[in-house]
Amino acid sequence: MTTVIEKNQKNGRLEVGTPLLEVKDLHVEFHTRDGVAKAVNGVNYSVAAGETLAVLGESGSGKSVTAQTIMGILDMPPGKISQGQILYRGQDMLAMSEEDRRQIRGQKIAMIFQDALSSLNPVMTVGAQLGEMFRVHRGASKKEAREKAIELMERVRIPAARQRVGDYPHQFSGGMRQRIMIAMALSMEPDLIIADEPTTALDVTVQAQVMDLLAELQAEYNMGLILITHDLGVVADVADKIAVMYAGRIVETAPVHELYANPAHPYTKGLLRSIPRLDQKGQELYAIKGLPPNLLKVPAGCAFNPRCDVATDLCRSEIPTLHQVTDKDGKELTGRRSACHLWKETLHG
Ligand code: SF4
Repeated sequence: MTTVIEKNQKNGRLEVGTPLLEVKDLHVEFHTRDGVAKAVNGVNYSVAAGETLAVLGESGSGKSVTAQTIMGILDMPPGKISQGQILYRGQDMLAMSEEDRRQIRGQKIAMIFQDALSSLNPVMTVGAQLGEMFRVHRGASKKEAREKAIELMERVRIPAARQRVGDYPHQFSGGMRQRIMIAMALSMEPDLIIADEPTTALDVTVQAQVMDLLAELQAEYNMGLILITHDLGVVADVADKIAVMYAGRIVETAPVHELYANPAHPYTKGLLRSIPRLDQKGQELYAIKGLPPNLLKVPAGCAFNPRCDVATDLCRSEIPTLHQVTDKDGKELTGRRSACHLWKETLHG
């Protein structure tokens, strides 16, 4: 029987909107001498072909652990997947054989890391590193692999690619190295790219160029993109939807522009207020008070309550569930969910 996904396939590429990856009720724990840290606590999200999901949160929120679990690069132990599913094109990767999983992770889902310099091999030329993928996975000759490497370098707009294919990573600037990482991720023409803080180490102008390049390539290849970041400012122009994480849980989801215009969770509100704005030059920059919780000692009730200006007794005793958000007339707002007891006041107040 032909599945919906197969029907949507065109020349090996998925049609925009076809479900690609779905994380379902994922729980990941770290077993330490001091106790069990629930790093990912019932996370659900999905991304379709041609869609960009930004996963936003401070360090320790679980955003990177979720990505590492998808990619199978989480250290286990101490990490442990205690529950959940990771569906790639409808098939649970956690229930697959190791070999099937490796095929998907090597060729269908690629990852871009924050620190290109430590992700690239310092004693191999970038051409050899880019070409290796074609030699290993596609059986290309040395010459063919070199040509493919040049093609990819040109694709990510590295100037004088043919002359620079024999250079080593340290001979490139930070921005150019990040382009090389993107080229490596693209080499197997994946369905999905997971980019973990891909521009954090770069200055603002180069950040924008790298984000634009990623967005352009994604549109061209119909890829899904999961963009992990702590910086709301980076994702405004490229993401379609956002999942905000705090202490291992998703606390708000929304289409990107709706979240910017009117957040439904006090934590998101605080993050938005923390973005420097040109029209507030000279004014003190807002910062959310306090620190993210220690995952071994998460506060009772809503984990954000010690840092929340509007917390009530209910917030200190009951964990808010992630539920559908409505407009003032009670009409459901598509894609909008909030895990806050006071979401109505936050959104409509
Ligand atoms: Fe603040 Fe309470 Fe909402 Fe948590 S549930 S974010 S403490 S208002």
